[in-house]
Amino acid sequence: MKILVLNSGSSSIKYQLFDTDKKDVLARGMVDKIGIAGSSLVNHRNDGDSVKLVGEIVDHQVGIEFVLGLLVSAKHGSLRTLNQLDAVGHRVVHGGEKFNGPVLITDNVIKEVEACADLAPLHNPPNLKGIYAMQDILPDVPQVAIFDTAFHQSMPDYAYMYAIPYTLYKKYGLRRYGFHGTSHFYVSKRACEILNSEIEGHKIITCHLGNGASIAAIEHGKSVDTSMGLTPVEGMIMGTRSGDLDLGVLTYIIDKEGIGVQAANTLINKHSGILGISGVSSDMREVIRAAEEGNQRAQLALNMYHYRIIKYIGSYIAAMDGVDTIVFTGGIGENSVITRREVCKNFNYIGLELDQQKNENLRGEGIISTNKSKVQVMVIPTNEEAVIAEETMKVVEANKVYVMNQKLKQL
Ligand code: AMP
Repeated sequence: MKILVLNSGSSSIKYQLFDTDKKDVLARGMVDKIGIAGSSLVNHRNDGDSVKLVGEIVDHQVGIEFVLGLLVSAKHGSLRTLNQLDAVGHRVVHGGEKFNGPVLITDNVIKEVEACADLAPLHNPPNLKGIYAMQDILPDVPQVAIFDTAFHQSMPDYAYMYAIPYTLYKKYGLRRYGFHGTSHFYVSKRACEILNSEIEGHKIITCHLGNGASIAAIEHGKSVDTSMGLTPVEGMIMGTRSGDLDLGVLTYIIDKEGIGVQAANTLINKHSGILGISGVSSDMREVIRAAEEGNQRAQLALNMYHYRIIKYIGSYIAAMDGVDTIVFTGGIGENSVITRREVCKNFNYIGLELDQQKNENLRGEGIISTNKSKVQVMVIPTNEEAVIAEETMKVVEANKVYVMNQKLKQL
C-alpha cells in the first residue's frame, strides 16, 4: 500500500509517503510558514533528490495541494498518479476518552475530534485542517486518525484522575490523558523485538526525551502511567515547559505580576523549563555546552532535568513493582550520553549497570547496559510516522467493505 502520513501543525505540515509492501519511505518533507510570508515546501525523495519550492501557501488546503502536486511531478515525484495513493494517516493529538486506538475517519469521527478541541486548542484544530483539506481534495481516499493520547487510555482510574472535585471530571473531562503515545508504543514494542521476546510479562519504562518530554510505565504492552496529563505541560522539565509545578506558584505569580490566565499559560509553556532556568537556550546541546564552559545556571538546569527523570523512573518502578527494561528515545534520549549516564547512575540499587563504552559509542538502536545488568537499558530512535502508516494500513484493511461502499457513492 502507498500511504501518506500527515502531521498538520498550526503553520506547518510534515509528511512522509510510505510504501508498506516494500517497507520503504518513498519521500518525506515539510510545508513551512503556512499563512506567513516566505512559505515553502521541501521534499526529499528516497533516491537523494531534494527540492525546495518557495511560494505563497495561504492555508493548509493549498499546502496539501502543493504536496500532492509534487508527489506526482515528473521530475521530483514518487507516484505516477494520485490514484496510486491507498490511504492517508493523520496524526491527531487529542482523542479524549473517545478514542483508544486508530479509527477510519467518518463524519462522526470528525465531530468527536472537533469536540476534543477544547482539551487541545493548539493542536486539534490544525490537525483537523489537514483532514478537512484531504477530504476536499481526495474524497474517495480513505483517511485514518491516529491519536497521541490513545495508547495511554489503558491507564487505571487511580493513575489518571486528579484529586479535584469529581464533578469537574464529569463536567469537562478534566483528567490525565498523556501524550507521545505513538512513540511510547513504538519503542516499547521495538525493544521486545530487539530482545526477541514477547511484550507480555515485560515491565518497561520508556523515556521520550525531546523538546517535549514524557515518561511512560508499560506493563504487558499497556501504558499504566505516564508523566504528561490533561495537557503536555505536566511531568518532565522540558525545553520551554516547566513540567510539574506547585499550583500555588502559578496563583502567586498571577497575583504578584498582575498577569492573566493566557500570560500565565505562556509563561509555563514557552518561557520555563531548560530555557527559563539556564537563560541560555531551550536546546539541550547548547545548555550542555554552556555548562561545560562553567555556566552555573546551565549546570543547574541539567541537574534539575536529570533529577526529575530519576524521580519519575523511581516512582514508576514502585508503581509496577519492578522494571526489566528502560528505553531512551527522542532527540535527547537518543543522543545525550550525559543524560543517560546521569539518570542511570541512580539505579544501582536495582542491579542496573550501564556499559559506559556502549553508552558513548552506540549509534542508532541497541542495548547500552552490561551483560550482567538486571535491567536492560536501550536506546531506540522513535519512528511515529512508521506506526501511523502501519496502523493506517490495518484500519483500511479492516474496513475494506465500508471503504468500497464510500468509493461507490462517489461514482
Ligand atoms: P526532538 O524534539 O526529539 O527533536 O529533540 C530535540 C532536542 O534534542 C533538543 O533539545 C536538542 O538539543 C537535543 N539533542 C539533539 N542532539 C543532541 C545531542 N547530541 N546531545 C544532547 N542533546 C541533543
